Amino acid sequence: MQYQRSSTLFQEAQAVIPGGVNSPVRAFKSVGGTPLFVKRASGAYLYDEDGNQLIDYISSWGPMILGHAYPPVIQAIKERAGNGTSFGMPTALETEIATLALEMVPNMDKIRFVNSGTEACMSAVRLARGVTEREKIIKFAGCYHGHSDAFLIQAGSGAVTFGSPNSPGVTKGTAQDTLLAPFNNLDAVRALFSEYPKEIAAIIIEPVAGNMGCIPPAEGFLEGLRSLCDQFGSLLIFDEVMTGFRLARGGAQELLGIKADIVTFGKVIGGGLPVGAFAANNRIMSYLAPEGPVYQAGTLSGNPLAMAAGLAMLQSLNQEEEVFNRLAEKTAYLHQGLDSVLSTTNIPYQINRLGSMISVHFTEIPVTDFETAAFGNNDTFKKYFHGMLEQGIYLPPSAFESYFLNDALSFSDIDQTINALHLVIKKL
Ligand SMILES: *Cc1c(COP(=O)(O)O)cnc(C)c1O
Repeated sequence: MQYQRSSTLFQEAQAVIPGGVNSPVRAFKSVGGTPLFVKRASGAYLYDEDGNQLIDYISSWGPMILGHAYPPVIQAIKERAGNGTSFGMPTALETEIATLALEMVPNMDKIRFVNSGTEACMSAVRLARGVTEREKIIKFAGCYHGHSDAFLIQAGSGAVTFGSPNSPGVTKGTAQDTLLAPFNNLDAVRALFSEYPKEIAAIIIEPVAGNMGCIPPAEGFLEGLRSLCDQFGSLLIFDEVMTGFRLARGGAQELLGIKADIVTFGKVIGGGLPVGAFAANNRIMSYLAPEGPVYQAGTLSGNPLAMAAGLAMLQSLNQEEEVFNRLAEKTAYLHQGLDSVLSTTNIPYQINRLGSMISVHFTEIPVTDFETAAFGNNDTFKKYFHGMLEQGIYLPPSAFESYFLNDALSFSDIDQTINALHLVIKKL
């Protein structure tokens, strides 16, 4: 595989963009080597600037759940663009996507659109604090809720990959209002509530963690959080930026049968354009400006191009509920294949999977939280990543990221992936 053009482009980018990228994990820091510069993508495939074709397992970190350049979304963007791309005034399109999103997601009355998952989570926490008149939040080590200050305390995703879990620039004051617990550890959360019974505004959690690899919730864990929130008058925020419109039509709430008080969205809801959103019941949402006192705004929020792309995406997912089962089947097929090859070696490994999220960890110990995820052997991971890349398989360039499958992937693409692994294990 040739990387010359990407290599040159990376050099040029580094001269004018910090680290050459606009989001850290893209820089390949934790696996080394040259990040590939993409020229275009279609369906399940990426095409880089050197002309390599790759089978894509990250799907833009989630949004491209139906594959790249999905025709109904591209069509919607083209049609909309000719009518102007931003007005700073309301459009009928916003009501249309809001109505559909609320129809698909259980348990929510109103939704507000923003421009990213970060913004959605940041605003959800402000809203929870406004509603409860409390200041502290609980988050889980290794969960990622975007790069807003309050969340950069033992965050997952790029924040950990990069080796700086606590970012400079986050003040002690902010950090002190973010309480931490290990994922899947209900006792730790109970202890925090006994220490601060009247100070915790909300628990924020990825119901299925996707930013320290994929880590499903242990049996009873989310139910336990739900009842602790009820008992202590705190709000439960499900960060469904990754799981929303991916694990099921109604996201993790639907799949796992648990009701959150506030849900945040991003990724799939924008169909590949910059969109985030948060939703709650009428009572909670009535605190939001202009109805209520909690301020939140955005010049480009509800942007017509982004709403058109998101609406086309949601309509496609809504029309064909089978898509979620099909994705889960493909992911199970991948799991089986990976297992069948790795089990012939003496390399310790764990595979975690739920729905269309899956991750491989090179460790003997089951991966159930950030600590156990961190036991993974990063040298093996690097060889695995680069070996697969050399065979034209694009996996997440960090051991702390989940794969996100898209429905354009065929079973024969997955067979090809498993065949590649047969070659790669010889060098692990
Ligand atoms: C990606 C992600 C975010 C942040 O969304 P951005 O659009 O990158 O700001 C927040 N929470 C979760 C669970 C995510 O996966």
